[in-house]
Amino acid sequence: MEQEYSRILEECRTTVEDPEYPAVHKWLSENPNGKVLGHFQVYFPEEIAHAAGMLPLKMMGFDSSVQVRKADAHIAAFVCSILRTTLEQGLSGRLDFLSMYVTTPICDAARHISGVWTRRFPDMSCQILYLPQNASSPHAAGYLLGEYRRIAGIIEEITGTSITDESLRASIELFNENRRLLRELYRIRRETPWQVGLTDSYLLMAAGGAMPRERHNELLGRALEIIRSRDHRPQDKLRVVFEGGYCEQPPIEMLSVLQDVAYVVDDDLMIGLRWLTEDVATSGDPMQNLASAYLEASSYSVVQRDPRKPKEAMLLARIKESNAEAAIVAAPKMCEPGLEEQVAYDAALAEAGFPHLIMEFEEKTANFEQARMEFETFAESLLFEFA
Ligand code: SF4
Repeated sequence: MEQEYSRILEECRTTVEDPEYPAVHKWLSENPNGKVLGHFQVYFPEEIAHAAGMLPLKMMGFDSSVQVRKADAHIAAFVCSILRTTLEQGLSGRLDFLSMYVTTPICDAARHISGVWTRRFPDMSCQILYLPQNASSPHAAGYLLGEYRRIAGIIEEITGTSITDESLRASIELFNENRRLLRELYRIRRETPWQVGLTDSYLLMAAGGAMPRERHNELLGRALEIIRSRDHRPQDKLRVVFEGGYCEQPPIEMLSVLQDVAYVVDDDLMIGLRWLTEDVATSGDPMQNLASAYLEASSYSVVQRDPRKPKEAMLLARIKESNAEAAIVAAPKMCEPGLEEQVAYDAALAEAGFPHLIMEFEEKTANFEQARMEFETFAESLLFEFA
C-alpha cells in the first residue's frame, strides 16, 4: 500500500512542481477542443467553469525553477513573487493553452495585474471577478450572484456551451466531494498529525488546483484510505498552526524544514481550495447557492473583509480547534495585506499569552538554514518551557 501511496504522491508532486503543467497537457490531449481557465489566488468558483466543460487551473507561483526575466519589464520588482512568476509563465509561452484568465481584487497589485494581462495577451479573455468589498452587507449576496452570472456568460461565449442548472449541480457535487476529502485530510492532521506530514498533505491538496478534480478525487480518496490504515507512532513534537499561506505559497522545502521540528496541525495553505467549509446545496438555484456559500459558509483570509469574521478571532479559533501549542504567523515578502494583518495577529496572540513566531517568506527562496534555525530555536524554547 505504501508503494501505491508513493506513486500517488509522485503524481501530485509533479503536478504541483513542474512548471510545464503536465496534468493540463494530458487533459488537453484527451480533450482536444477543451478550454482552460486560469484563475489567480485566492478563491474562484471553479464549478462555473467546470459546468461549461472547462478545466479550471489555480495559478500557483513557482520556486526558483522559474527565473523572472520578461515579467520585470511589465511589473515593478518590488511586488510579491507570485504575481511576477505567474506573469513570467504567461510571457514565456507556458500558459499558451489558457483561453481565459481571471483575477480578483485581493490587493492593489492583483487588481492591476489584470491590465497587464489584457494588454499582453489580447487573444485571451482577461477578467476581474469583483468579489464584494464588504461581505457582511445585505446587498453582498445579490451583487455576487450578478458577478457570477457575468463571468458565467463570458465562459459560455468562450466555450459555446450553456451552463444549465443541471450541469452546475453536477459540478457542485464533484467539488463538494473534493472539499469533503480535503476536510478529512485536515481532520487527520488535527487528530493524528503523525500519520501524514505537512509536505505530503500539502502536495495531496495543492495538486487539485492543477489537475481535473475527477482525477484528484480518485487520488485523494485512495491516499486517505492508506493514511487511515497507518499505525505510525507519535513523536514528542510541538503542535503548531501555520498562518500565511493564503496566496503566495511558501517553498515546499521550507514546509519540510518546519515539519522536521513540529507537527503542523492546521494551516491556511491554498485556502481557496478549502474556502467553502460545508457542502454547497444543489437544490434550488445552484448559482445562488454558490454565491451564498462564499459569504455564509466560508473560511477567512487577510484578503477578505467581513466584519462578522474578525481575523484575530478566527485565528484563535483555528488554534483552539486544532489544540495547537504555538503559531507560526508568516506573510509573503512584499504582501501588503499579509504584512498589515501580521501586526494585528501579533497583538492578539500576545494579549492571549499565546506563543508565536512572526516571519516572512518568498516562494523562490532557495536557502532554508535561516528558517531552520528560527523554527528550531522557537520550538526548543517552548519545549523547555513546557517540560
Ligand atoms: S501575495 Fe499578497 S501582494 Fe501578492 S498577490 Fe497575493 S495578496 Fe497580493
